[in-house]
Amino acid sequence: MAYDFDLYVIGAGSGGVRAARFAAGFGAKVAVAESRYLGGTCVNVGCVPKKLLVYGAHFAEDFEQASGFGWSLDEAQFDWATLIANKDREINRLNGIYRNLLVNSGVTLHEGHAKIVDPNTVEINGERHTAKNILIATGGWPQIPEIPGHEHAISSNQAFFLKELPKRVLVVGGGYIAVEFAGIFHGLGAQTTLLYRGELFLRGFDGSVRKHLQEELTKRGMDLQFNADIERIDKQADGSLKVTLKDGRQLEADCVFYATGRRPMLDNLGLENTAVKLDKKGFVEVDDLYQTAEPSILALGDVIGRVQLTPVALAEGMAVARRLFKPEQYRPVDYKMIPTAVFSLPNIGTVGLTEEEAREAGHEVQIFESRFRPMKLTLTECQERTLMKLVVDAQTDKVLGCHMVGPEAGEIVQGLAIALKAGATKRHFDETIGVHPTAAEEFVTLRTPVGA
Ligand code: FAD
Ligand code: NDP
Repeated sequence: MAYDFDLYVIGAGSGGVRAARFAAGFGAKVAVAESRYLGGTCVNVGCVPKKLLVYGAHFAEDFEQASGFGWSLDEAQFDWATLIANKDREINRLNGIYRNLLVNSGVTLHEGHAKIVDPNTVEINGERHTAKNILIATGGWPQIPEIPGHEHAISSNQAFFLKELPKRVLVVGGGYIAVEFAGIFHGLGAQTTLLYRGELFLRGFDGSVRKHLQEELTKRGMDLQFNADIERIDKQADGSLKVTLKDGRQLEADCVFYATGRRPMLDNLGLENTAVKLDKKGFVEVDDLYQTAEPSILALGDVIGRVQLTPVALAEGMAVARRLFKPEQYRPVDYKMIPTAVFSLPNIGTVGLTEEEAREAGHEVQIFESRFRPMKLTLTECQERTLMKLVVDAQTDKVLGCHMVGPEAGEIVQGLAIALKAGATKRHFDETIGVHPTAAEEFVTLRTPVGA
């Protein structure tokens, strides 16, 4: 049967755009549907605007530290509306770039909500289009638990567009988004409390990293409340929010921001018209080739709930495009050694196994750790300390994991990820000459294992 398209991609986010552009580049006839914003979550309400706000928040520290270097400034003033307007302008520019990228690669762009009506047909704006393959790349959506008063809370989707910087913010959650936004609000001058239901935030990260960040945020005056969960939120006459915790305590805030994970975006997608199956957590179930239970339908990115990171969605998009239209170039995505950064202030950068994971996996581990005051701060009053940690297999000498909390941790860990991917040993690290004076050189001068 002749189809309108070889590939119909639903969702012009990180994964969808990558798959569509490369498939078209390989000669396939491709369409993409997008209901909201070109570039998806990352460009519009994720990585990019988040990083811009993190840069904005970081200026508070820069101004504070400048006097140690002889600079004197009048009292710094911050204007939220200017930051948001400038951020919006940049995102508009990026939306235009994404449009051009798609159109110039020969992809047909359909703007509207797409619904799958049968395994080879998509309906959008009242029109039906057939395709040999349909790719679900619809991403995720913030999930707020339905406690009484949850309608008074916001998620990251709204945080990027607040009219004013709230005076008192309560951030709920202990994952990437909670920690990053708590840093943004705190840095920009809001009185910020981070509330997490467990013992210590950032579950799954290395124990030293979690503890170190806790200490650093506390030093900076952020109010961290662990083992705390909200029972209800009530709006008061003056517009502020009264938050009642499960242990009976009450807190007041002007903004309650939930960052408690993301669900797959499957709203009105028409999956009931297909044999596509969902996993236990409700994400689209796929095999190693991103194939769903419906032979003509594939899925990738956040909607499959594997690793919710842009570079992973990009890699999956590339893999799908190659497998379908350039099989001789197909290489499976390697999910091992994925580096990642949390853009908290200070940043976390990490790649490979945590100490806990390495021990759990049966490795006999050697731990190398260093905590030091970054050189840039020696002329200032700031007492911030950087953490660097290596997890090494004592038998093979292989470096299993690198972890850092400190300025530019993400930038530093990207390079280390290549070394780990190439199978670097501790000896390789030791034999590498440092770049002096940098913080990163500390990773090649860690000589004595902790406890040895
Ligand atoms: P998305 O980028 O979400 O794209 C899905 C697209 O599909 C959307 O544009 C949506 O509008 C569209 N869509 C959905 N349903 C339909 C439909 N029925 N019809 C038409 N279109 C539809 N990752 C990082 O690596 N680094 C970071 O620093 C980082 N920061 C983040 C910060 C925040 C606040 C958030 C929320 C996420 C962040 N992420 C970060 C995660 C990253 O944004 C996602 O992993 C990535 O965007 C996933 O890409 P995707 O293609 O799967 O989906
Ligand atoms: P995460 O899954 O990272 O964290 C969710 C947090 O919310 C956890 O601390 C979790 O606690 C807590 N939580 C979950 N449900 C509830 C509940 N019902 N009540 C109270 N707390 C709850 O999700 P995020 O929303 O922070 O981010 C989503 C994903 O987006 C991330 O996992 C990451 O993949 C991606 N992202 C990446 C970024 C980056 O690369 N820098 C930045 C931002 C997002 P517990 O640990 O106890 O389960």
